[in-house]
Amino acid sequence: MQLTNGELINTMMDMDHEQLVFCTDKESGLKAIIAIHNTVLGPSLGGTRFWNYTNESDAIVDVLRLSRGMTYKSSLCGNNLGGGKAVIIGDSRALKSREHLFRNYGRFVNSLSGRYITAEDVGTSTSDMELIANETKYVAGLPESMGGGGDPSPVTAYGVFLGLKASVKYVTGSDDLQGKKVMVQGTGNVGGHLIDHLMNEGATVMISDIYEDRIKRITAKHKVEVVPPDQVYSVQADIYAPCALGATLNDDTIPQLKCNIIAGAANNQLKDEVKHGQALREKGILYAPDYLINAGGVINCYIELEGYNRERAMKQAEVIYDRALEIFELAAKENLTTQQAANQLAEKRIRAMAKLNARM
Ligand code: NAD
Repeated sequence: MQLTNGELINTMMDMDHEQLVFCTDKESGLKAIIAIHNTVLGPSLGGTRFWNYTNESDAIVDVLRLSRGMTYKSSLCGNNLGGGKAVIIGDSRALKSREHLFRNYGRFVNSLSGRYITAEDVGTSTSDMELIANETKYVAGLPESMGGGGDPSPVTAYGVFLGLKASVKYVTGSDDLQGKKVMVQGTGNVGGHLIDHLMNEGATVMISDIYEDRIKRITAKHKVEVVPPDQVYSVQADIYAPCALGATLNDDTIPQLKCNIIAGAANNQLKDEVKHGQALREKGILYAPDYLINAGGVINCYIELEGYNRERAMKQAEVIYDRALEIFELAAKENLTTQQAANQLAEKRIRAMAKLNARM
């Protein structure tokens, strides 16, 4: 989608955004856009993505889309948080001074008085959040040494694991993973922890990664079969768990799939939400919506805002199991894709809370 200036405000309205903030600083080279999608459930929270967009229109479209996604994600997993996101345009590796840019950016975040809380995302790190924290308290994703939640991937992986188990329960009537064949694509931070959970439950795990060292990290610990990256989609498995990149469910891959269930951590797995969600449904494959089952990351940030406690973050991630079953049942009853059913449940909670807010 390309946007002209005149179309921007109408696009914001169409997508139900509350606010879009442009932030610049010549000295540090900061060019940032903060999007606040919806604050009915609470302050908006979402990471800051640092990316070298080819043009401003791409950056705006991305921040609008990502911030709306955060509203749905937090609503569905029960956080009292709205949806927001920010992008910084540029090449993060070519930065002259990270401190100068991120402290400048932190002041812009602070100027929103808590309507937007930032965190890390692609291209930003915990140390960038530490820089931002010099200027504002509205930042999450800080290291544990600063009272933050640290690496969120163990919580994310636990949520994915529970979403996967709920999917197996829905399809087979039991969530026992003993002997179930799971194809895990991507053995990074989340994939690695997910494999630990699956092995503990007696699943038969197949793994794939493009980096040999990542594979070795897993094979040193677990007895798993290694599948070459180009054979991941056609392999015979009960469950395909995408834990690498987005858009792996598309025109090319869906016809190859031989699994019954897709449940993984990667963001935006469906290349086209409607078309590919429908294609999976027609093929009889149960798709666990990515933005629900990978919500452990945002849950970790939410718990950090209350005063971090890993046990509490893990406990809250358990909501993913029941919510996944609720989605599958709604999808079957209303003849919807699971993604559509998830969207409906997320919107329902926001509508109910908006009514409650109006009464107070
Ligand atoms: P990561 O970078 O640690 O791991 C990704 C792994 O995928 C890497 O080992 C990489 O080599 C591998 N990979 C890349 N392309 C591949 C391919 N074609 N085939 C096989 N493997 C490939 O990232 P992560 O933190 O584990 O996150 C994984 C996914 O989950 C991402 O899409 C991320 O956006 C999403 N996610 C992560 C979190 C979190 O808490 N880390 C939260 C929500 C969503």
